[in-house]
Amino acid sequence: MRFMIDFNNLISNYVKREIKEKTIGRYYPSEAGNCIRKVFYSYKNPKEVDLELLKVFEAGNILHEFIVNVLESEKNPQIELLEKESPFTLEVDDMTISGRVDDIVVVKVDNKVYLVEVKSTSSLKYTHEPHEAHIMQLQLYMHAKNIHNGMIIYVERNTLQSKSFQLNYDIKGAEKAIKRLKDIHQCLKENKLPIPEARAVYAKGWMCKGCQYREECFKDTPHL
Ligand code: SF4
Repeated sequence: MRFMIDFNNLISNYVKREIKEKTIGRYYPSEAGNCIRKVFYSYKNPKEVDLELLKVFEAGNILHEFIVNVLESEKNPQIELLEKESPFTLEVDDMTISGRVDDIVVVKVDNKVYLVEVKSTSSLKYTHEPHEAHIMQLQLYMHAKNIHNGMIIYVERNTLQSKSFQLNYDIKGAEKAIKRLKDIHQCLKENKLPIPEARAVYAKGWMCKGCQYREECFKDTPHL
């Protein structure tokens, strides 16, 4: 007998979000490492995020909660979870960078405090080093929170296997992230379309996958 409840539909209803309008001048740390043109479009023309992508994000959130449980567990006394969510605000000139820091936790190991960025991934096969975008985001957090030991952990969704990378604070990395946000801010204020960065830089090509602005991006710049 066919069951009448459509669970895909229930999940879709649950993860569905309103379109989020963004304010020019207020930026998120994750935007520093993203394709600058994509960030520009997201302010100028906010769109609904694709439902299938929202489901992947939700799977990432669930996994993040799991990692928090792992770090909090008495079964792992060698590590202490200090903060589950670590908000911060950084004022730079006429812009505010503030964090919805739901993928970052603060832990203590051997009396050393670390900022840990947890990322979920469909496969660890090609994860040999952290993505530049994730490094940039963590450098910005370390700068703002004044915690100078960092770690990026990639967790495979299907297997719960992980790979982790240590990262020390580097002022140049943090300044680079801030400079990128300044550049985005300038483009938004002047209404100047930035370069299609992820299409122009081979290592960033993965960002175009699932980008909601592909159509306008190719229309605005058909050839590189
Ligand atoms: S399609 Fe690629 S280059 Fe264009 S905005 Fe999206 S991520 Fe950037």
